[in-house]
Amino acid sequence: MTTILDGKTLALKLRGQIKEKVDKFKSEGHRAPHLAAILVGEDGASKTYVASKERDCDFVGFKSSVHKLPADTSEEDLLNLISSINNDEDIDGLIVQLPVPKHINATKVTEAINYEIDVDGFHTISVGKLTKNEDTFISATPFGVIMMLEDYGIETKGKSCVVVGRSNIVGRPMSILMSQGGRDATVTVCHRYTPNVGEFTKNADIVIVAVGIPDFLKVDMVKEGAVIVDVGITRVDADNKRGYVLKGDVDYENVKDKTSAITPVPGGVGPMTRYGLLFNTLKSYKKKLNL
Ligand code: NAD
Repeated sequence: MTTILDGKTLALKLRGQIKEKVDKFKSEGHRAPHLAAILVGEDGASKTYVASKERDCDFVGFKSSVHKLPADTSEEDLLNLISSINNDEDIDGLIVQLPVPKHINATKVTEAINYEIDVDGFHTISVGKLTKNEDTFISATPFGVIMMLEDYGIETKGKSCVVVGRSNIVGRPMSILMSQGGRDATVTVCHRYTPNVGEFTKNADIVIVAVGIPDFLKVDMVKEGAVIVDVGITRVDADNKRGYVLKGDVDYENVKDKTSAITPVPGGVGPMTRYGLLFNTLKSYKKKLNL
């Protein structure tokens, strides 16, 4: 029997718990938690992501403010805006939606955010603390995956885990978290230069795929009874109203019956990522207000 790891339903439940806490804090006379977002340019997917973050904030009772800047905004203007938000005591979280236009240095932008409100967890200090297993903001996607595995009671201790992808925002932190005390998995990281990725994945108890290639993980690359987490989201052109469908990195229809548990796309990791951002913002707020 395969368990479908239903991130949509789980995130809804967890968001409800955040809303309850926020309602309580507000009823005690505290201000609402506040997430600020900066969006530079007109990238369609980025606009969709920011809009969904705004909706999530509304749902749980956070204040949200979105700064929409034109694509030709200078790096200096962007850094100045970040600096002014950093200095605003009433803002608990700041995210700059990536990617930024090519003339802006994304690393400079990430590092300009005060790590105390770095709710995306991309700052070098946040990553360093994560690596040392110190309290910090864990970037939303790996955090969401860990929450999901925990909630579904998926055993990770002593299990072999293959993470496919080594990006700073997904694969790398994911691999660190899975090997840390508490999860205790034995982790292998595969990437674009790994020959025969399937030789690794087909021996793994848990496979976490974050490559951005639709249907990358085929049924012959999976062990019977494995747990499969599909982080990938790619827009593939389709003849529907939106003009596209979302595809994961796993050949879901063919793989799912071979697994003991698997995340669908959409409705798996995506909603958990959105929850991760809310969790981090509430964490920052509680720290600021000593709650
Ligand atoms: P990225 O492009 O930064 O990294 C992709 C990684 O895949 C790289 O480390 C690369 O080495 C590896 N890779 C590429 N081709 C490979 C191959 N043939 N074999 C093995 N490894 C290969 O991407 P990212 O930001 O890590 O995102 C990965 C995917 O996850 C994308 O589809 C992205 O849209 C999605 N994503 C989803 C969420 C979510 O909430 N579900 C969040 C972030 C990213």
